[in-house]
Amino acid sequence: METPSPLVDRFVRYCRVDTQADPESVSVPSTEKQKDLGRLLVEELRAIGVGGATMDEFGYVTARLAGKPAPGGGGGSTGPASKTRIALFAHMDTAPDAPGDGVIPVIHPSWDGSVIQLPGDPSVTIDPARNPALHAHVGEDLITSDGRTLLGSDDKAGVAIMMQLASEWSDLPGPLPDTVLCFTIDEEIGRGVDHLDLASLGADVGYTLDGSGIDSLNFETFNAAAARVDIHGVAVHPGYAKGVMVNALRLLAELIQMLPADEAPETTEGREGYFHPHTVGSAGADKASLQIIIRDFSHDGLEARKELLRGAVATLAARHPRARVELQIEDNYKNMRSYIEEADPRAVSFALAAGEEMGITLKSELIRGGTDGARLSELGLPTPNIFNGGHDYHSCFEWNTVQSLERAHRYVQRLLGYWARHG
Ligand SMILES: [Zn+2]
Repeated sequence: METPSPLVDRFVRYCRVDTQADPESVSVPSTEKQKDLGRLLVEELRAIGVGGATMDEFGYVTARLAGKPAPGGGGGSTGPASKTRIALFAHMDTAPDAPGDGVIPVIHPSWDGSVIQLPGDPSVTIDPARNPALHAHVGEDLITSDGRTLLGSDDKAGVAIMMQLASEWSDLPGPLPDTVLCFTIDEEIGRGVDHLDLASLGADVGYTLDGSGIDSLNFETFNAAAARVDIHGVAVHPGYAKGVMVNALRLLAELIQMLPADEAPETTEGREGYFHPHTVGSAGADKASLQIIIRDFSHDGLEARKELLRGAVATLAARHPRARVELQIEDNYKNMRSYIEEADPRAVSFALAAGEEMGITLKSELIRGGTDGARLSELGLPTPNIFNGGHDYHSCFEWNTVQSLERAHRYVQRLLGYWARHG
């Protein structure tokens, strides 16, 4: 392979910076080292000549790229064609699930499809049998870690694409919309936008560049609720318990049995929802508590699940009148699709149309987990998630390809152009 393109060069450099988040930490960002990358990005943005690139006290880095009109087109120099201001987001932190320090990215040029033993730990292999998605990338230039660490494509790929965009902005032909770049912290531990000053971004529509694979678009997440059941039994000496003891733990087990076993995370996929009893607390014969999360893609489906749980708790209480059973249910978040449709459905339709323009049909993939975009959409900024080429996130098997990175980069350019012409 020839010298890596500027995009790949950036990607590899950013992957080497340890930015692993720490769920046990209460500081913001959770690890100070996330700011190491933040400082590097600010330095590079300033060197490129992007005025106003800054990192705030929490570590969020923002930079503004001024929109521009179509070259020589009608309206000429009156400003960008689009009134819609776009925000792009990528998170600088990496996941705590695999080692994240001392990352050594390895490029495997023109990969022939055979199993790769990674040089830093030969027991770690890149194997199409384990990940069939690899089959579509034979002949491409694969990028992995050396096997001892994660790669950090999640989400250094998004970071690199946004930085590359900034560096070429002045040479890109218009029209382009006013665009704000926002590099975030602690996405991997669910705190990605907790301290973000969303209003100051001044954006109308956002995109996170944090989706795995190629040609994927995510704009649907679960509707989520959490339930807590407290069971108060009657404890006495077991030797003299007949007809007196009410064992809270047995009631708790009975309740779990009443939840449909085929509606569990381990038995569902795609659009199927579930009940997930996950934590038993203050367990004892006299007192036990149970926490359950409830997930469903539709609003009505979530309500039906809550109703089923209420019914089960009522049945349990009726069977055991001397026990006291309490149920609390709270809603956690809504399917981001509902927020996007309310705020600006073009966030999705334009993303699809921009794909069609470059001859790709984006696949809409459901997210059976969380994303910063879901939270941003809920806060009023409709923010679908778009692909960045990466695979096997949060592990030493993580990989991307030069061609996928470049494809994602071209797509983002096209998306911005589309907004400028139609927004
Ligand atoms: Zn990510």
